[in-house]
Order: sequence, then C-alpha cells, then structure tokens
Amino acid sequence: MTTIGVLALQGAFIEHVKILRKLGADTREVRLPGDLEGLDGLIIPGGESTTIGKLATEFGLIEPLRNFANSRPTWGTCAGMIFLAKDIGTDRQPILGAMDIKVNRNAFGRQIDSFEVDLPIKGIGDEPFHAVFIRAPVATAADDKVEILAALKGDQIVAARQGHLLATAFHPELTEDNRVHQYFLKMAQG
Ligand code: GLN
Repeated sequence: MTTIGVLALQGAFIEHVKILRKLGADTREVRLPGDLEGLDGLIIPGGESTTIGKLATEFGLIEPLRNFANSRPTWGTCAGMIFLAKDIGTDRQPILGAMDIKVNRNAFGRQIDSFEVDLPIKGIGDEPFHAVFIRAPVATAADDKVEILAALKGDQIVAARQGHLLATAFHPELTEDNRVHQYFLKMAQG
C-alpha cells in the first residue's frame, strides 16, 4: 500500500486526500514532523504560501519538510509550488528551496487572477488537462535538471518535474480528471 501525506496546515488539502483515496492510496494529513515518517510521498497543497510558511515555522516543520523534499517524492500545487521553489525573488517568506525553479507569485495579476484552460501536459496522455488557475504562480526559469511538462505562451512554466519533485501552478484536485494524481502516485511508487 502506498501512503501519501498531504500537508494539512492551510488550503485545499482535503480535496487531495479525497482523490488519493479514490485512487486506492493510503493518506495521512501532515501537521507535525512525526507525521512524515514512513510516507512514500507528500503533497503540498494550494492555499496561501505565506500562511503555509508561517504555520510550518510555528510547528517546527520547515527543516523536516525540507529534508523530506530533498530526498522523497514531493508534489507542490500552486502555493505548494511556491513553497518548493529555490527562488521566489524574495527572502521575506519561508520556503523549502528544494526545486531548481524561479517562481513568480501571483504571476497573472488582478485582471485574470483566476481562469481555466485546456492544457497539454507531458506524461499524462494526449488529452489536454482542464487546468484551474487561482491566483497562480508561474516558473519563469528552470535549471537544466528540470523537465518542463507544461507551459503557457511558451515560456510560462506551469508544470515541471525534477526527479522526485513535481510542481503544478494549477489545481488538479479541483477537477474530476485524476491523471496528475495518478502520475504522482507512480512517482511515489518508484
Ligand atoms: N497566490 C497564492 C500564494 O501566493 C497561491 C494561490 C493558490 O495556491 N491558489 O501563495
């Protein structure tokens, strides 16, 4: 049985738990360092990255999460993608700094702060994925080690993988299409 943890400090964690259960995985809500023990993978959900960072600091989770993300399958969605990144252009909020991407928070600005688009994503099949973006970040740069799985307008990276790390700028937990969760489960199963 594969056990996937979902960081449950703030944001859309329940939605991930529900999909993972539907796919037959064991799930665990992660709130304390000990909750990371024995997990096959971890999802850092969307929400508000400053709040997630603040709560993670209060609960003594920054180092344990960093250690986990440096070696074990970890997927960040939206705020989680920001939290995973190495560079967000400021040191005013705590991040894990695990993935070699440069991320721009709230990259789409006010005018289109939320939108949906049918997005081709490498590795999940030919059918485009209906992607929901909510005050989403984008990665504007990525190291050579990073595989770009999806981009908008050619250079706005919205899905990427670096070995055991996965980042998506949109919210796959808000649609019925489970293909990105299945993709991550495969990563977690090695
Ligand atoms: N804008 C949020 C942030 O900066 C992320 C939004 C989301 O996760 N839907 O953390």
